[in-house]
Amino acid sequence: MFSLEQISKHYGEVVALDDVTLGFGVGTVSAIVGSSGSGKSTLLRLLLGLQWPDHGRIRVEGQLLERSIRLAIRRRIGYVIQEGGLFPHLTVRDNLALLPRHLGWSRERIDARAHELAALMELPESVLRRYPTELSGGQQQRVALMRALMTDPPALLMDEPLGALDPLVRAELQERLQQLFVSLRKTVLLVTHDLGEAAFLASRIVLIHDGRVAQDGSAADLYQRPADEFVRRFVAAQRIRPAGAP
Ligand code: ADP
Ligand code: MG
Repeated sequence: MFSLEQISKHYGEVVALDDVTLGFGVGTVSAIVGSSGSGKSTLLRLLLGLQWPDHGRIRVEGQLLERSIRLAIRRRIGYVIQEGGLFPHLTVRDNLALLPRHLGWSRERIDARAHELAALMELPESVLRRYPTELSGGQQQRVALMRALMTDPPALLMDEPLGALDPLVRAELQERLQQLFVSLRKTVLLVTHDLGEAAFLASRIVLIHDGRVAQDGSAADLYQRPADEFVRRFVAAQRIRPAGAP
């Protein structure tokens, strides 16, 4: 679904990504993990064509990502950010309707899809008539996910979608996401700095450190066979063990 070939991205003196080569197959669920400032969000933004690399090439569904096809590609990818990114002056329903309306969907089709997704996210239909500020943080993130899913894109990129939630709400949404990832069969890239969350939701973990891939493997690989001292320290700092670890 996605491939990055020798991608580098600088912001002035800052090296956000440094010679990163990665591939993400169709239907796979991967977590991008790393400390704050390691380059995780930059990686997602490059895949969406929201920013451009200084070096290297990106392919989406086999197509070279270029400015001319950026908008077409963005419609193939749902994107969820930490704060949800909902427009406060629009109701939930109108937030959900933005892209579909732009694509020429009828009102009936938009409402049918909104109701379908509300059921999928276990939200009451009354939520559709409310404004984002009238929702809890967990509900806002469910709506942000609904918005990303409206047009049923084959891929879903999520940038710390649960980062701002309290532990219980977060655990609930983790469960919901886990079920969704299994049932929807989309290509998912989930950015998180929480290794436990990554291990719970993704079969593959890509650990980024200072813009480079420090390790790429399963949770068990990171815990039992850390590639270097940084990985060992990152794992130890999380103070958890994956199920079945010695
Ligand atoms: P992460 O998501 O892992 O926290 P980012 O990809 O946001 O990391 O950022 C990687 C590095 O690039 C950081 O040092 C950050 O400060 C810098 N950076 C990110 N976006 C910009 C920008 N628009 N302008 C300048 N520096 C940026
Ligand atoms: Mg980030």
